[in-house]
Amino acid sequence: MNPRNSLNFSGGPGALPESVLQQVQEAIMELPEIGLSVLGISHRSDWFAAVIAELETNIRTLLGLSTDYHVLLLQGGATQQFSMAPMTLLHGKTHAAEYLRTGYWSGKAIPEAKREGPIQVIWDGESSGFTRLPGDDELLFSPDAPFIHYSSNETVEGLQFHRVLGRDDVPRVCDMSSDFLSTPCEAERFSLIYAHAQKNIGPAGVTVVLIRDELLKDAPDNLPGFLDYRSHVKAHSNFNTPPVFAIYVVLLVTRWLLNDIGGVANMHQINRSKAELLYRLLDQSNGFYRGRAAVPDRSTMNVTFNLASPEMEKRFLAEAAAAGFSGLGGHRAVGGIRASIYNAVTLQAVERLAGFMDDFQRRAV
Ligand SMILES: *Cc1c(COP(=O)(O)O)cnc(C)c1O
Repeated sequence: MNPRNSLNFSGGPGALPESVLQQVQEAIMELPEIGLSVLGISHRSDWFAAVIAELETNIRTLLGLSTDYHVLLLQGGATQQFSMAPMTLLHGKTHAAEYLRTGYWSGKAIPEAKREGPIQVIWDGESSGFTRLPGDDELLFSPDAPFIHYSSNETVEGLQFHRVLGRDDVPRVCDMSSDFLSTPCEAERFSLIYAHAQKNIGPAGVTVVLIRDELLKDAPDNLPGFLDYRSHVKAHSNFNTPPVFAIYVVLLVTRWLLNDIGGVANMHQINRSKAELLYRLLDQSNGFYRGRAAVPDRSTMNVTFNLASPEMEKRFLAEAAAAGFSGLGGHRAVGGIRASIYNAVTLQAVERLAGFMDDFQRRAV
């Protein structure tokens, strides 16, 4: 059964605000200010130059980002950044860059970085089944590392750092793909932040990169043009044909964050209320729903849990889908259940899910 008007709890591509989808629907037929479909507008038009400029300004405003940083809109997803960041920062280095392996996605970054130069995994969550994150007492950062790399939110496992890691004298590189613009993230404490759009801020096809200008001065000169951040800086994110549509949708999402939500601090409050509602339900279920992540490391974006048996989980997922809750199956790497409650998932939608879960438990026990 495939009910209409399902609520999207998918890990990604994620939900988008309804008001944004309505504007997109109109823009696909005709952008009122242009008289053409957004799908057929030149990336060399004044209109698109203004889209890039406004989106850049909105991201700077939302995160309080100074002109020490470039705001880039790239392709290739977060996966391309797994390579592009070390290609830029690790070239010719003798000291190892420090990587944290806290789950599926930060783990994917490691073999890519290894191709580019020396790296060291300074913490590995495998022995604890990726159910928790390291405390400060478990982390020793070297002052000689060219940079540290970690993921702020492990989308698959539902683990999130609620603090900034590392030393202020070593550049921080962070994959924020699944919690970008969900919270004020102290962006200026990082040297490079990357986040593809399709979890929290738009459709697939565009990846936001924030990079401190001084990081570019030692970049090697023999990089392919497309993989050299400086090409994209010079071309104002218009180096080759960019994904105009995806970038436009991200612009609409940033307008929504600024004008409807009132900024990322407000967004964070809403996200916290949503997450607290679900975690409280897990904790008060007498073990019927078993939260996966250690309590201090629980993600506000991806709520992961198990039921007593795989059969019970299958039944839960089938009944949830039939009741109009979509995308609750855990990532294929870990199974179980995952409720992804990105920015655009409303408190009301989460309340409806909680109501369903409550009811399911009552019927099952
Ligand atoms: C989904 C995800 C990725 C993979 O992104 P692609 O755009 O598909 O390359 C990387 N990192 C995190 C944290 C993710 O959630």
